[in-house]
Amino acid sequence: MTIAKPVVSKFGGSSLADAGQFRKIDYIIKQNPNRRYIVPSAPGKRNPDDVKVTDLLYACYDKAKHGEPYEEYLNQIRQRYQEIIEELGLHLSLKDELKVLENSFVRGIGSEYAASRGEYLNGILLAAYLDYEFVDAASVIRFHKDGTLDAETTNELLKERLGGCSAAVIPGFYGADENGRIHTFSRGGSDVTGALVARAVRAEIYENWTDVTGFLLTDPNIVDHPKKIDVMTFSELRELAYRGATVLHEDAVYPVRREGIPIHIRNTNEPDQNGTLICRRIRPEEETPITGIAGKKNFVAISIAKHRMNAQVGFCKKLLEAFDENGISFEHMPSGIDTISVIMPKDEYLKKEDGIMESLRRRLNPDKITLDDDLAMVTVVGKGMRSVSGIASRFFGALGDANVNIKMIDMGSNEINCTIGVANADFETAIRALYDALVK
Ligand code: ASP
Repeated sequence: MTIAKPVVSKFGGSSLADAGQFRKIDYIIKQNPNRRYIVPSAPGKRNPDDVKVTDLLYACYDKAKHGEPYEEYLNQIRQRYQEIIEELGLHLSLKDELKVLENSFVRGIGSEYAASRGEYLNGILLAAYLDYEFVDAASVIRFHKDGTLDAETTNELLKERLGGCSAAVIPGFYGADENGRIHTFSRGGSDVTGALVARAVRAEIYENWTDVTGFLLTDPNIVDHPKKIDVMTFSELRELAYRGATVLHEDAVYPVRREGIPIHIRNTNEPDQNGTLICRRIRPEEETPITGIAGKKNFVAISIAKHRMNAQVGFCKKLLEAFDENGISFEHMPSGIDTISVIMPKDEYLKKEDGIMESLRRRLNPDKITLDDDLAMVTVVGKGMRSVSGIASRFFGALGDANVNIKMIDMGSNEINCTIGVANADFETAIRALYDALVK
């Protein structure tokens, strides 16, 4: 008999915000016996005006550390968990745990420890409710003392611990260094824990349960009810995420991508919907020409003109050194025969403006440097674009019809993206026009 590979299911804060949500995830987990490793976030918002437990913990700690009254926050935190315990009829008390928490807050134990308690306590509750083993993330997610993840030790610790454990709840968001000091990932970091667990147990799939029905093709604040992306590759996800589309923590991709474990974004409130599947390769019949459209505002383009630039060996090297010298990483570098432009976020440029201009003049002795500081970048991503003819004419035709002036074009060398630069004021119009022409 072959044993089925496990499924790792991570549930975000809104999926665990109250007892009703706990019941929903219990139902989901029971639908598939392979959902054996569960990674919870801390209870999130129950409604738009609510406060996440993680934020209550940060606020509570801040007060306690400064010797100010913190009880109000502590009571709210206690109440959030107590309601879940009572409504689910759990035979469990967090009294001792909360006492430890309070004492350590007053002692000034550190804000990362404070924030981590949201997931820790929720993990205890969820494990009791599901009757799964509770595995404290501090014992399996290892950080270096500087607060960065020690991925390889983590992988070994997880493999060893979960190898002997058929079903477990491992709280997300935190871990510990070798001295036992608690560290957290950046906000939204339970996604990363889920990915690390999936890698270690060689999961069939890494499910990421949230409150959206998947990755939308573009920003719903710009396009009304955009279509959902059913399936995309890791590279497409990377391109879209880089351009501002967010659903997953960006560090959650690498651990599973390297093992070829697909990520499945699902909605806890609509478990029958198929969500968005992110995998290494997609079958040609599943490919659509356009996977997604994303973008960001506020970039600058520095254009450098120099006669016979093309014939000057080492010109680009000196250009890159000028940026390197100022510690700037840039995004695009479209070029002509005698001109080359470098595009970077405006806020980065402003911090280093004098230094970069001085380096460029000194190293390149250019004929002219011009600056365009009103630039938004819009990227259309789609692996299928390369095999469909006529996309480019629809792409540029749509922008022309919408009176959007294209200031720059950069077609990624892997042919899965095409980026254009437009004025900030044209950003939304460009996205709408491209969506209407290429997707609708
Ligand atoms: N609870 C943490 C946060 O609010 C981590 C997470 O939910 O992934 O950011």
